[in-house]
Amino acid sequence: MMNMEFRRKLPIPKLLKEEYPVTEKMAALKDERDETIRRIFSGEDDRLILVIGPCSADNEEAVLDYIHRLRKVQDEVADKIFIIPRIYTNKPRTTGKGYKGMLHQPDPTIKEDMLEGLVAIRRLHMRAVEETGFTCADEMLYPENHRYLSDLLAYVAVGARSVEDQQHRLTASGLGIPAGMKNPTEGDLSVMMNSITAAQSSHTFIYRGWEVESKGNPYAHAILRGYVDQYGKNHPNYHFEDLMDLYQRYEEGDFMNPSVIVDVNHSNSGKRFLEQIRISKDVLNSCRVSKEIKSIVKGLMIESYIEDGNQSIDEGTYGKSITDPCLGWEKSERLIHELADAWV
Ligand code: PEP
Ligand code: MN
Repeated sequence: MMNMEFRRKLPIPKLLKEEYPVTEKMAALKDERDETIRRIFSGEDDRLILVIGPCSADNEEAVLDYIHRLRKVQDEVADKIFIIPRIYTNKPRTTGKGYKGMLHQPDPTIKEDMLEGLVAIRRLHMRAVEETGFTCADEMLYPENHRYLSDLLAYVAVGARSVEDQQHRLTASGLGIPAGMKNPTEGDLSVMMNSITAAQSSHTFIYRGWEVESKGNPYAHAILRGYVDQYGKNHPNYHFEDLMDLYQRYEEGDFMNPSVIVDVNHSNSGKRFLEQIRISKDVLNSCRVSKEIKSIVKGLMIESYIEDGNQSIDEGTYGKSITDPCLGWEKSERLIHELADAWV
């Protein structure tokens, strides 16, 4: 007896892709952006990546409104900055309670509908490509779901709560786009480094009912997001010494394209979202004073939306986060320009 009701069979990724197909133009755009992103991670293109956008993509119109604003700024700073918008459609929850993202609840005020959710997340990522020319980033929370969006995504992160999990690591090893492996919530960097080793290697395993062989992902890399100690206190890991330590670990190991994206919110800011401004500039300063650090820092991850801060779901303010607090639009726009000026 299973304590689970099998409600209905859902369409496989291939079917949903046929129902909501990418055009040739969208596919060409993705290829071109994928190539640029690979060149940034391999050091052939010197621009700074910003993985920037709301903590959760809670509302199709507000998220697209936000990404249209990013489009304009991107064009102004194109010589220095390469923007990958965050469209995070599935959210890990610390206790399992609360909003789990658009995949679960296309409308956060009404109950779960996983079929609607699959359609909603594909539509949102497709509209972003079509309307703004951006391929975007998402968290790979459920490895088996990756292929619902694999023809659209530019970047995935394996979250702090998933990075020690074998299925996440093996799936990351089979992706054709960079996978950022976050340090775990308690901060053990060896867990993160081991996950990068696993994701850069080839594996044979079971995926969606198939025996598959992954080739290894040479663009799997670190994301530093700060950590929480045994007393529940936040500690940053974006400082000069932390980045030098990571550089040493890369030097001592056997890694392809040693890279890091610094997540400036979460435990690095202690979710004091305004601190993201100072922390971003601090990381760029470390790059300026150390060529070793500059060689591994490929970008920043910033939680940003239309309004400052966050709100409860029932408050209903347009463009304000219902998960982690975000930097509002005016401050974000200013920050992107300041980072473009500071990136040498
Ligand atoms: C996030 O990026 O919103 C997130 C959940 O990050 P982390 O896995 O670092 O907590
Ligand atoms: Mn978040």
